[in-house]
Amino acid sequence: MSNAFVAPHFATPERAREWLEKLRWPEGPVCSHCGTIGRAYALKKPGWYRCAEKECRKDFTVTTGTVMERSHIPLNKWLMAFYLLNASKKGMSAHQLHRALRLDYKSSWFMCHRIREAMRAGGLGPLGGGGQIVEADETYYGKPDAPRVAPSRKGRPYKRKFRNTRPIVALVERGGNVRTFHVPIADQDTVTKIVRDNIVRESRLHTDESKLYFDMDKHFDAHKSVKHSADEYVRYEDGEAVHTNSAEGYFSIFKRGMRGVYQHCKEKHLHRYLAEFDHRYNYRVALGYSDSDRTLAAIRGIAGKRLTYHQSHEINFSLYR
Ligand SMILES: [Zn+2]
Repeated sequence: MSNAFVAPHFATPERAREWLEKLRWPEGPVCSHCGTIGRAYALKKPGWYRCAEKECRKDFTVTTGTVMERSHIPLNKWLMAFYLLNASKKGMSAHQLHRALRLDYKSSWFMCHRIREAMRAGGLGPLGGGGQIVEADETYYGKPDAPRVAPSRKGRPYKRKFRNTRPIVALVERGGNVRTFHVPIADQDTVTKIVRDNIVRESRLHTDESKLYFDMDKHFDAHKSVKHSADEYVRYEDGEAVHTNSAEGYFSIFKRGMRGVYQHCKEKHLHRYLAEFDHRYNYRVALGYSDSDRTLAAIRGIAGKRLTYHQSHEINFSLYR
């Protein structure tokens, strides 16, 4: 693990800052308040800049407006944490990070969630496209923070097991990206809305025979389903393999990671863990990404998470190599 950190930007907070400035500001400091590029001057205190725009004149650093803002953790440790969380196949717990980076546990926990926030893809267009296959599937994971009981049941819990687990819906492009959703209840309305909002109409939808996907063919170019209840896991139809194996593969990576690394996860944080697993899946080795590419893509996501979900999809990997 230690020899992964030979790069100079891991060595000291100053080198880390210079590296991050080069990455985020290839054309000079960008004012985090007004967005002006290259019109700020360095202040005496290293890393601080003042915007030269008349109406702005505000001070900022390379971490202003990012998930690292106001953190007292040294910047090189942030970069190491980004690397560790991106390079480990199943993730890394706050406990492991606290030991590896010699941080107190609370800082480490906080940092992990901020990194997940950076990994969360924002402002992306819908999945799929003309002739492309997108799989939709749902699974259940863990227990909700408070068991859900409809008021009409007067406190009597549901007998059916799945009502007290947390539903997750996954959409996976065949050979492409994943997008997951933690939903309160996986009913037909919820699932239909997710599927329609996030998949291009011209796509070909593959699901299992669940009633949740009843009527989907009117929303897409085609809707095909495999009958898992009849032991059918893949069917060939007009030269097309009909299955939901990509979605199931994603769920199995997610569950193995969650059980092995993140044993306790509160329901309110589940979407953050999903963002982390989605990110690793979308930058997986099979798509040609290295550990460094994946890390860099996450670091690219540090800004604009709270204010706006729009961010550049173009990633300049060359800086990292
Ligand atoms: Zn400004």
